[in-house]
Amino acid sequence: MTSHFSEPPKKRLGQHFLHDAGIIANIVHAVDPQPGDRLVEIGPGQGAITFPLLDRHRELTVIEFDRDLIAPLTHAAQAHGTLHVIHSDVLKVDFTALAEGGTLRLVGNLPYNLSSPILFHALDHATVVRDMHFMLQKEVVDRMAAGPGSKVYGRLGVMLQAYCRVTPLFDVPPAAFHPPPKVDSAVVRLVPRPAAEIAVRDRAMFSHVVRDAFGQRRKTLRNALSKVCDADAFAAAGIEPSLRAEQVPVEAFVALANALAGTA
Ligand code: SAM
Repeated sequence: MTSHFSEPPKKRLGQHFLHDAGIIANIVHAVDPQPGDRLVEIGPGQGAITFPLLDRHRELTVIEFDRDLIAPLTHAAQAHGTLHVIHSDVLKVDFTALAEGGTLRLVGNLPYNLSSPILFHALDHATVVRDMHFMLQKEVVDRMAAGPGSKVYGRLGVMLQAYCRVTPLFDVPPAAFHPPPKVDSAVVRLVPRPAAEIAVRDRAMFSHVVRDAFGQRRKTLRNALSKVCDADAFAAAGIEPSLRAEQVPVEAFVALANALAGTA
């Protein structure tokens, strides 16, 4: 069969196309689409995950930035099912509007240079996102899932875990892609917590506290947060201010931000 895709992969768009059938099958299996699900794939590329998902689910929306991929994707999809193609930068897509009152399931082998902005963009729309299955750099997945005491526990893990359950699923070697990336990859599942389970009262304050706390990892919280926290806030949150950020669990950061939000 002749390929519809003739352009070489573009480095600046993080294009590393998956070609390992076993890994692709594992991703589809992990997503496990069910009737009625609204699946949205970010960065479909040449359709490595798109077409197997369509074969299984028959309908799918994709968001792709690369103009050169739009026509070939649309054409090739006809043999598999109904593909709705949004030609856009995913960071400009309003997931809440896209969900039309329902919820979305997001999937993507993400462009690694944009993975954090895409994660935070999805979190901004967390109330309409049922779950996410993303391929990322393994190092990023490790940071997302890390807990206190781990060397890679930091801002990304605390921010994500406050809003989502984070489950690393499996690792993927560079050889599964064309061209192979320089780093190992991993697939992770993120499930946004229901609103009632999210304890953060003031998102901006939480974000501020976590950023400052990890801004200078080696400092104690008392020093790192001297501009925003006084002894009363630490006491109200039940946190020992002589700890360093990397020793403090997610719930304690939430309690501290809530104590500050209460006094702001
Ligand atoms: N899903 C394909 C696969 O697994 O083979 C391609 C994955 S490739 C790592 C990342 C894809 O994201 C590319 O198709 C790239 O063009 C697209 N992309 C890059 N930046 C984007 C953006 N800002 N918005 C939407 N798609 C983007």
